[in-house]
Amino acid sequence: MTEVVKSVSEWRKIRKNLSENDIGFVPTMGALHQGHISLLQRCKNDNRVTVASVFVNSTQFNDPEDFKKYPRDFERDLKMLRQAGVDYVFHPDHEEIYADEYRYMVSEKEFSTKLCGAYRPGHFDGVLTVVMKLFNIIRPARAYFGEKDYQQLILIRDMVSNFFMNIDIVGSSIIRESDGLAMSSRNQLLSAEERKKAPVFYKTLNSGKSVSEIINELEKSDFKVDYIEEHFGRIFGAVFLGKTRLIDNAPRN
Ligand code: AMP
Repeated sequence: MTEVVKSVSEWRKIRKNLSENDIGFVPTMGALHQGHISLLQRCKNDNRVTVASVFVNSTQFNDPEDFKKYPRDFERDLKMLRQAGVDYVFHPDHEEIYADEYRYMVSEKEFSTKLCGAYRPGHFDGVLTVVMKLFNIIRPARAYFGEKDYQQLILIRDMVSNFFMNIDIVGSSIIRESDGLAMSSRNQLLSAEERKKAPVFYKTLNSGKSVSEIINELEKSDFKVDYIEEHFGRIFGAVFLGKTRLIDNAPRN
């Protein structure tokens, strides 16, 4: 049975009866797809109790328009979470999480200003703050994040280590559509024509070409490139296709 929990106090009552090592946690912003489901399956394999959160976190959106149009369909998400056999779905509203109106935040000063952070000021402050809050509420032994958001995964691991939090951060590989496009909630926002073109991003990123060649090719195919960069033996990219921002990364061959 999947139980929806809306408030921190409700969760704390449930949490009291669970032991320290029981809980695996998968934070999401909803609009679920197979990428999320793969994290949930992994979590279910490793833990006696699986908790997912569905919370569209306003503080990580640097663009209010982007926050407004972010896809939301909780009833559909709940069906998928039930099918996946999730035990608890934490689905708070904004006020429950941000009673402080975001007066307190977790901020990282170096890596969070690179890659996506350079183009989305404040994005990782919002991400780290909400993940810290969610970790303090849920108190999981393990938490699961996708390599699709590789920079996020690294920053969360680093935060947990530097705040001496006793949570194992498990990274999971990118789930793709059959044409190579990395699954993302934002893919729903692509027009039919944009959706057809979108796999060019993944294919070009994986072509083994130089960074400047990749940028040129993407621009020729009408992508607006935020960045293409190499770090830790991987290639990272963020592009706009029309009004939709896509990110991806892959090992550098
Ligand atoms: P989101 O709902 O976009 O905030 O994502 C919630 C979690 O799912 C994050 O840890 C993401 O990295 C992960 N995720 C999103 N898309 C994928 C994907 N295509 N493959 C694997 N994990 C993903």
